[in-house]
Amino acid sequence: MKPAPFVYVRPDTVEEAVAFLAEHQGEARALAGGQSLIPLLHRRLVRPTAVVDLARLDGLRHLTPTDGGLRIGALTRHAEIERGTDPALRAGFRTLPETARLIGHQPVRTRGTFGGTLAHGDPSAEWCLLAVLLDAELTALGPAGSRTIAAESFFTGAFRTALRPDELLVEAHLPYAAPTAALVEYAPQRHQLPLVAAAAAVTLTGCGRIATAQIALAGVADRPVRARAAEQALIGGIPEDRLLEHAGLLATRDLEPADDARASGGYRRELAAVLLARAVRVSLARCAEAAREAQALQEAEIAKEAAREAAREAQVLAEATATLRTEVGVA
Ligand SMILES: Cc1cc2nc3c(=O)[nH]c(=O)nc-3n(C[C@H](O)[C@H](O)[C@H](O)COP(=O)(O)OP(=O)(O)OC[C@H]3O[C@@H](n4cnc5c(N)ncnc54)[C@H](O)[C@@H]3O)c2cc1C
Repeated sequence: MKPAPFVYVRPDTVEEAVAFLAEHQGEARALAGGQSLIPLLHRRLVRPTAVVDLARLDGLRHLTPTDGGLRIGALTRHAEIERGTDPALRAGFRTLPETARLIGHQPVRTRGTFGGTLAHGDPSAEWCLLAVLLDAELTALGPAGSRTIAAESFFTGAFRTALRPDELLVEAHLPYAAPTAALVEYAPQRHQLPLVAAAAAVTLTGCGRIATAQIALAGVADRPVRARAAEQALIGGIPEDRLLEHAGLLATRDLEPADDARASGGYRRELAAVLLARAVRVSLARCAEAAREAQALQEAEIAKEAAREAAREAQVLAEATATLRTEVGVA
C-alpha cells in the first residue's frame, strides 16, 4: 500500500519545524529516521496531513558531556552511539554502545534515532527503558518555548508520550554517569524488539553492601517501569543470589503483563524476574571491576610517589656527598 497524500517539508531550523507542526494543529508528524513512521504511513495506520522531515537539523545530532552526565541530541542515530568512539561515551556510559548493538539490524541502526525511539514510545524499546532507569530529563520544544519532562512521566502508555502534537523532542539529558549500569534482554527473534528487558545500576559501599540501586523493566506493562519496591529491598543488603531472587519477585509481583501473540503475560512476568536478577548481577560485576580499577589506579599513584621520593633522596645524597668531597679535598 502507498501512504495517503500529505504535504512534505524539510525545514532548515528547529523553530521552522515547530512552527510547521503548530500550523497543522496536531495533524502533522515529524520524520526522524523513518524506521517506525514510514511503515506506519505505508500501512496507512497513520494519515498525517503533513510530514516535517528533520534531516537538516544537524544541531540535534550530538553527544555532549555535562558536569553531571550526558546530553544526547534527538537526531543522534543508534549507529553513532553503537560505535562508541565519541569521548563522551567513554566517561561512564559504556552501557549506551552495548545497548545500541541490541537494536534491530544494521540498516535500522544506521537510520533510526535516539529521539525518534523515545517519541515513538514503544513499551519494549531499549532507549525508553534506559531513559527511565537513569532518570533522564527530556527537552521538548513547542511554539511557547521549551520544557523539560522527567522520563518516568514522559511515557504515558503504549506508543503514547507527554509530547504535544506541536512539540519536537530536541534532546535527552542522562544526569547520572552510570559506569555500572547494565541492560539485559530476551528477544526470541534476532533483530526484533525484545520480549522483556531489564536494566539495573547499583553501587556498593566500602564493605560490600548495596549502597544505591536503580532498576527498570520493559515489555511487562504499557510503558517502561521502575521497580521501586525492589530497589528499596536491595539497598543495604548483601548482594547474594537469594536477595536478587527476592528483588526479582518483588519487582514483578504487582505487574499484570497482557497476553499477546508473542507470549503469555505470566511468561513475561517470570522472564522479567529472571532478567532483573541477571541485570543486577552484571551491574554488581561492574562495581567489582570499577573497584579493582580504582585500586589499581591508587596503587600506581603510590608507586609513582615512592619513585619520586627515592629520586629526591638520591639527589639530596648526591649533593651532600659532593659537599663532603669538597670539604675533605677529595677530587
Ligand atoms: C526491523 C526493525 C527492527 C527494530 N528493532 C528495534 C529494537 O530492537 N529496539 C528498538 O528500540 N527499536 C527497534 N526498531 C525501531 C527503530 O529503533 C526506530 O528507529 C525507532 O522506533 C524510531 O526512530 P526513528 O528515528 O526511525 O523515528 P521515526 O520512525 O522517524 O518516527 C517515529 C515516531 O516518532 C516521532 N518523532 C520522531 N522524532 C521526533 C522528534 N524529534 N520529536 C517529536 N516526534 C518525533 C515521529 O513523528 C513518529 O511518530 C526496529 C525497527 C525495525 C524496522
